[in-house]
Amino acid sequence: MTDTDLIVIGAGPAGVAATVMAVSLGMTVRLIEQDQVGGKLHHIGALDNVPGNWTTGPDLAAALAADLERIAPTNLVRRITGTAIGVTADDEQAHVLLADQSRFHASAVIAATGVTTLSPADADWITAPDGLWPAPLWRTAPAEMNGAIWVLGADRPLGTWLRAHPRVERTLNVLCPPEDDYKAAEVAGDPRVNLVRCTTAGIYPARNGARKIMVRDRSGAPRQYIAGTLLGNLGNRPAALPGLGQGPDGYCPAEFQHPRMLTAGDLRSARFQRIVTAQGSGAEAALARYYDSALVRG
Ligand SMILES: Cc1cc2nc3c(=O)[nH]c(=O)nc-3n(C[C@H](O)[C@H](O)[C@H](O)COP(=O)(O)OP(=O)(O)OC[C@H]3O[C@@H](n4cnc5c(N)ncnc54)[C@H](O)[C@@H]3O)c2cc1C
Repeated sequence: MTDTDLIVIGAGPAGVAATVMAVSLGMTVRLIEQDQVGGKLHHIGALDNVPGNWTTGPDLAAALAADLERIAPTNLVRRITGTAIGVTADDEQAHVLLADQSRFHASAVIAATGVTTLSPADADWITAPDGLWPAPLWRTAPAEMNGAIWVLGADRPLGTWLRAHPRVERTLNVLCPPEDDYKAAEVAGDPRVNLVRCTTAGIYPARNGARKIMVRDRSGAPRQYIAGTLLGNLGNRPAALPGLGQGPDGYCPAEFQHPRMLTAGDLRSARFQRIVTAQGSGAEAALARYYDSALVRG
């Protein structure tokens, strides 16, 4: 048996909000994070939709880390560095297994592991060598880009990257399949973007570490390009842990979960991938568990 009320997996905006809310209600929490507090916030160079005049993600991540420091003296929260590889639940408890084979048990678990970047192997319009996984555009600084820059996919981080680097005058050649057309609309007016609308693309090795890109354009005509820098911008898939209930799209909404397993943040749905909604859902999950348990009745 365990005396822990809640395990929270992931210390991004959702997991931190869940932890702060749970501790404020007197719950004991184990917070498991494999990397650093703040999650994706560390990669948001320009921010304008979070209340409180936050202009960069790292600043907000530092505020979340400070929140965890502020509640540390309660001794209600224990932070654990590790990667969760599975969750289960039974009538009595929820259980979490980490990659180092350590196990944690609690009355309930909140999974807030967010989303992970898609690779070319996940995109049916791309043919690429096995194991090719270009660096994500959103993690790449201008100084890391050499030669002609080619970007696979026109997902939304393209606009974020351009806003974060307003003075960079390099051209981003962006391969845009038909399903990305509606997202490309928001960057189409930026002179730094060369949208190459295509139906398929093949990536092949070229000399000196470059890549040859063979494209079928929308009329079916073949085109060929050389990329000095190849970057990925194909979107995300949910970082769903084995044991969580998944919908047909792979996401993990609340209604697919065991009563002792809750989900929060980007992991729930492709529709709500925003910082504020992640925070709200984290706090909501902790509140739901509190009012659903005997805790509230003392
Ligand atoms: C480039 C970019 C720009 C963005 N710009 C904006 C914006 O301007 N405005 C906005 O509102 N939103 C923006 N977003 C979206 C926003 O970042 C997310 O909605 C938000 O971070 C989701 O919070 P989360 O806590 O659900 O997940 P995340 O922030 O992804 O945090 C998940 C955490 O879980 C950890 N984790 C994952 N798996 C495991 C595991 N197995 N074991 C242990 N820990 C694990 C991760 O290390 C991470 O710390 C942007 C995202 C990106 C990528």
